[in-house]
Amino acid sequence: MSDFLRTELEKAQQCLLETYELAASYGDNEEKDTSKYLLLMEQICQIRDNCIRNDRALEMAIAEHTIDSFQITFQREVKGPGKKFQAKRTREYKAFADRLDEISNSVNTSEEAPSTSKDGAMEMQVQVNLNDPLTKRRMVDPVKNTICGHTYEKSSIQDAIQINPMLRCPVAGCGNNQYITTAHLKPDKALKLHLQRLVDADENGDNDD
Ligand SMILES: [Zn+2]
Repeated sequence: MSDFLRTELEKAQQCLLETYELAASYGDNEEKDTSKYLLLMEQICQIRDNCIRNDRALEMAIAEHTIDSFQITFQREVKGPGKKFQAKRTREYKAFADRLDEISNSVNTSEEAPSTSKDGAMEMQVQVNLNDPLTKRRMVDPVKNTICGHTYEKSSIQDAIQINPMLRCPVAGCGNNQYITTAHLKPDKALKLHLQRLVDADENGDNDD
């Protein structure tokens, strides 16, 4: 198999994993369904196997002296020993399935908040989501604006409303034009739990991926 094809297949595989990583964090249930990714991986394994077979058959057939015998040998070798190729039994497929599980687990343990992705863009979003837009500091007791969905540190937004009763959502680019009232604010329990876990992890010096 050519290096080019090998690289392309590896790229396709990597791309699938990255897509799943995003879907597992932000997607709906249909997008999180691993069976689609596994089916595509099965096809990648199948293509890889076909290429290897073809290469091998070509190597054998090239020794023949007539076109007829070339074809016969090639066809025989391509078909192989008759045993059907089972993509799911390959090392590549198993490693891929394990990787999907790992991603799924790492996302599920971090509740609603985004996963610990290496992706720079996502890292930035984590920063924004975890920090109070007013003080820019990591939130401890977050409340969610039920109108636009943005979150703020409870005490800082309450103080800000007291100072300015005509305060609008301070998140840049937010389309919510209503003045914030305490009736709009609801404790964000899932985020609070996630923040608490991050604090616990920091205190335990738990810095692994
Ligand atoms: Zn907003």
